[in-house]
Amino acid sequence: MSAVMITRKVRKWEKLPGKNTFCCDGRVMMARQKGVFYLTLFLIIGTCSLFFAFECPYLAVNLSPAIPVFAALLFLFVMAMLLRTSFSDPGVLPRALPEEATFIEMEIEAANGNVPAGQRPPPRIRNVQINNQIVKLKYCYTCKIFRPPRASHCSICDNCVDRFDHHCPWVGNCVGKRNYRYFYLFTLSLSLLTIYIFTFDIVHVVMRSVDSGFLNTLKETPGTVLEVLVCFFTLWSVVGLTGFHTYLISLNQTTNEDIKGSWSGKNRVQNPYSHKNIIKNCCEVLCGPAYPSVLDRRGLMQEDSPASETSPPSSSSMNSVPQTTKTTAPLIPNEHTPDDVKPSIADSAEKTPSPKEEESPAPKLPPLASPETDAETSIIKDKAH
Ligand SMILES: [Zn+2]
Ligand SMILES: [Zn+2]
Repeated sequence: MSAVMITRKVRKWEKLPGKNTFCCDGRVMMARQKGVFYLTLFLIIGTCSLFFAFECPYLAVNLSPAIPVFAALLFLFVMAMLLRTSFSDPGVLPRALPEEATFIEMEIEAANGNVPAGQRPPPRIRNVQINNQIVKLKYCYTCKIFRPPRASHCSICDNCVDRFDHHCPWVGNCVGKRNYRYFYLFTLSLSLLTIYIFTFDIVHVVMRSVDSGFLNTLKETPGTVLEVLVCFFTLWSVVGLTGFHTYLISLNQTTNEDIKGSWSGKNRVQNPYSHKNIIKNCCEVLCGPAYPSVLDRRGLMQEDSPASETSPPSSSSMNSVPQTTKTTAPLIPNEHTPDDVKPSIADSAEKTPSPKEEESPAPKLPPLASPETDAETSIIKDKAH
């Protein structure tokens, strides 16, 4: 009655534990909740279609043929930035492998010693020094890793995301280290597109009203009213959002840090990532290097499936329930040592254990009410300053 194990190769994305959906064999990655994303697509494509159908023919003849051409280019750019933001890995950090988790758990227990019964164990943190300031790395009880600075666990996608900004339902994805600039370009270009359509809607109505009267114009081009309404209400939120992110970029700060007041707390600590220069901050956020995905989601891994000796192997390989999975290579490559943490990532003064930073963590501990929503990369001002 001994079971025979059948090994088959699967793509790693098929076994990733977060709440994501994948298409195109793992090339496209999104959050599972996509309803609002479809609404975004519908609003952008719908409004632009009405503009091309009702206003563009008239404006091209009576004003300039460049108007529809520029609108089309802007529309394509908006769609490209939206899809780039929505379909990419925002910077998800792989969870610890069971062996790594066990090792880190042992390390933490050794550092903390025996905690008397009834007492809370000390918080699981490690400290790193960044630009002369001590930054705490918090332990993620779900991913079993010490999060790199600026990373946070997204409760919707159930992943730790590097340089987490926020989860955006409008783009159906987290916004983080790998897609933030595309998200910003999306909001910026969408603001321009909305202003553009709104302006030429008004120009169109005015020009046509001179010829055939206001009411006749509205009857002839019923889409115009709808476009004006959609653009008017979109304008405030999208332009406001773009302005807010422009402000954040100029300070090299994330939405998450801004909400939590990470750099403006009681200690008045300075943001260690800011260059104290708006141009340098903008260059770093918008023109810095593109970071590769550390998930390797299209890589192959081996999956062992049990199969009964009596059953033919051919049929069982497809239907059997997977029991154990073994990656051919560790899911956590070494390279995701936070890039923001310059060479200065030295273990700091505190009595924290040894290095091996955010790679590995703890295993079988009970899923303590996970303080996931935190990620406050809280900072303690260096006593020397
Ligand atoms: Zn996590
Ligand atoms: Zn998310």
